[in-house]
Amino acid sequence: MINRVKAAVAQLVGGIASSPGSSPDPGPKFPYSRPAFLHLSAEESQRSADHSSRPIVVPGQGRRRRRRLLPWDSGYAEVINAGKSALNEDQASREIVFMESRRPKSSSAAKSVEEVKESADEERDGIEFHYWALFDGHAGTGAAVMAAKLLHLHIRDQLHDIVDILRDCDVPPPICLTSEAGTVTGEGSKSPPHQGDWEPPTDSESRFLLEKEISHEYLVVGAIENAFRQMDEQIERERSSYYIPGGCCALAIVYLLGKIYIANAGDSRAILIRNGETVQLSNEFTPESERQRLQYLGYLQPYLLGNEFTHLEFPRRIQYREIGRKMLFRDYSMTGWAYKTIEEDDLKFPLVYGKGKKARVMATIGVTRGLGDHDLKVHNSNIHIKPFLSCVPEVRVYDITKYEHAVDDVIVLGTDGLWDVISDREVADAVIGVLSNCESDDPNRFTLAAQDLVMRSRGILKECGWRLSNDRLGSGDDISVFVIPLYGHT
Ligand code: MG
Repeated sequence: MINRVKAAVAQLVGGIASSPGSSPDPGPKFPYSRPAFLHLSAEESQRSADHSSRPIVVPGQGRRRRRRLLPWDSGYAEVINAGKSALNEDQASREIVFMESRRPKSSSAAKSVEEVKESADEERDGIEFHYWALFDGHAGTGAAVMAAKLLHLHIRDQLHDIVDILRDCDVPPPICLTSEAGTVTGEGSKSPPHQGDWEPPTDSESRFLLEKEISHEYLVVGAIENAFRQMDEQIERERSSYYIPGGCCALAIVYLLGKIYIANAGDSRAILIRNGETVQLSNEFTPESERQRLQYLGYLQPYLLGNEFTHLEFPRRIQYREIGRKMLFRDYSMTGWAYKTIEEDDLKFPLVYGKGKKARVMATIGVTRGLGDHDLKVHNSNIHIKPFLSCVPEVRVYDITKYEHAVDDVIVLGTDGLWDVISDREVADAVIGVLSNCESDDPNRFTLAAQDLVMRSRGILKECGWRLSNDRLGSGDDISVFVIPLYGHT
């Protein structure tokens, strides 16, 4: 098993071996590895990839450990799949990102070199955000590894333009920014950006010139949405120079100025556990949950279906002898079902087919949002799947300052390996159980909670495979979990 993993790692690290005389294939942009904050050596990384024992990995285990705990004492744990892929296709990231103010510093009298150095440290003027993210890769690790290394930098770049606007939280954001330095002109959305050029609208045209008031919160949401798009475009662009196989779901949490932004593109999930109750912080994006969006695209651009698929949905596949009969169907505009007379065109395979975890887009992929997948095609065809996939996350906002959080209040992030076998309630009960058994000031309690969740969803290896405590089938998928405490963070 280890040899198989070694070979796979070697292939990813060194690129695919090329035959003598042929031009070398491109290597990966980033070599495969486990999350940087685990500080695992290559040997430890290989050991974690043993499908037969499926060891659970938490921060602070590695020999090269530099920091035992993650910031905020966040808990994290992961385990590899039961053999569906040689490598763990999940990735994770935890970062604190500083964004410097764009305002020019006030000029001061001449200073010595030492004074300039000291004042530079003191004047480090800006704001920071905290970031946690999970990436659930498929059909290869390339996109997930790249997103884990870079998505927070795209978020930083998008937020950098508005860092000074966000700091002035009492002033509404201006409608436009000018100058290369991003200097803000105008005092706010109620003031025109260029007093000199701007004339008040006459009554007849004022209805076309109403300014919409936009909150700071929506500037951050827009920045995160754009960052996901930039990340996806970078993967698309750089796949001509690097080997970046596959795609990934992405779930990211950004804590900025007292608010938590939950951005989800895919089927990972975030929940809040507050006072023992659970609150869903994200939706999953699957062929079933996005059926109408997919069908509408297939209806508008039927060439994307390659003359092999129909955008209509039927309760089952239709047989040739059923042409002319009436059968239940659903179109993009419908949530309910109606009857239609079957035509020959309806014999094509449905764009969205299957139920629950088996639902697929064009019989190929079970998630509808994420990063990468630019080369994904329907098996044995030239039909591309990417036009049906969206890289844009749904972003929700949780105002952490509006609640008095208790010491056991947490946000749990997990890839679908967790949620496929455990309900939100079971997750909450498990977390509450672990935390209540620890001293409330024990900084390791959130790591123990994450470890417990991974252990519960993986199960124990028995003769009949990985089994949960109630003998249900355990998760055979990669499983990654963050447990983020909220107490004391406002
Ligand atoms: Mg998964």
